[in-house]
Amino acid sequence: MHNFLPIAYFENQFVPFENAKISIATHALHYGTAAFGGMRGIPDPENPQQILLFRLDRHCQRLCQSAKFLNYELSPEKLEQIIIDFVQKNQPTKSFYIRPLVYSSGLGIAPRLHNIEKNFFVYGLEMGDYLSPDGISCRISSWTRQEDRSFPLRGKISAAYITSALAKTEAVESGFDEAILMNSQGKVCEATGMNVFIVRKGKLITPGFEQDILEGITRDSVLTIAKNLGIPTIERPIDKSELLIADEVFLCGTAAKIAPVKQIETFKLPENRPITEQLKEKLSGITENKDSDYKNWIYVIPLEGK
Ligand code: PMP
Repeated sequence: MHNFLPIAYFENQFVPFENAKISIATHALHYGTAAFGGMRGIPDPENPQQILLFRLDRHCQRLCQSAKFLNYELSPEKLEQIIIDFVQKNQPTKSFYIRPLVYSSGLGIAPRLHNIEKNFFVYGLEMGDYLSPDGISCRISSWTRQEDRSFPLRGKISAAYITSALAKTEAVESGFDEAILMNSQGKVCEATGMNVFIVRKGKLITPGFEQDILEGITRDSVLTIAKNLGIPTIERPIDKSELLIADEVFLCGTAAKIAPVKQIETFKLPENRPITEQLKEKLSGITENKDSDYKNWIYVIPLEGK
């Protein structure tokens, strides 16, 4: 069971989480006409009277970008303020995850984006490790990631997650922790909720945006950190065979952070993962606001009355 944060933002006001309910006729429920975000926060390890949120601006911008595909205009600044208020009202005491969702909230039949009411809500839950930080096993999915010509992949559209759900369950039910999906060109794409990186001969390689990946914010952070550490980075297509013989492979995302991969199908990856470990440690220090070079990625939210 999840530990939900007590207050949600729903229908333009803050309400107890249990009171935030929608109708069974809600359009988004039937047609997947929704888009979501996901960001992490932690109580400041140095000062429990404040919360640290990672890259709030980028998360709000991406949600507004996703909302455009739903024919819904949402202001990133307004969203940022609602999320700050949300955190202050909830006063979380453990590591947590915030889930904002924009959706067709009108009631009715017929898939469309015009003439249907939209709204958004925000709720949160406590969240520790999403995947084992010590290394996971992956299956190559029999499901293929959608193509941008049939699906707006620069949006984090709820309907797309049927593919992730199928791939995840297929992987888990066949004995693996996670799935890696190929794109329609047969190249490495991403995992069910994470981007993929490989290391070969000291270089960090990840599929580019043209490979039908989600524009991951952790991916962007990892690339920036690596460049600043002097690790060569390359964004280019990755073949399946290159993935299987890589020196290191890791998945990254807001929920998963940096999750090293120890096995893909029957291929065991080397136990020594110097670049993954270096990036993991650096990212962890940044999210705890211990790294002066990345203070602009961390939103410090004071908790009044604490
Ligand atoms: N790909 C998919 C399909 C995802 O759902 C996520 C999680 N949002 C990611 C990649 C990683 O994105 P981020 O680092 O922004 O969380």
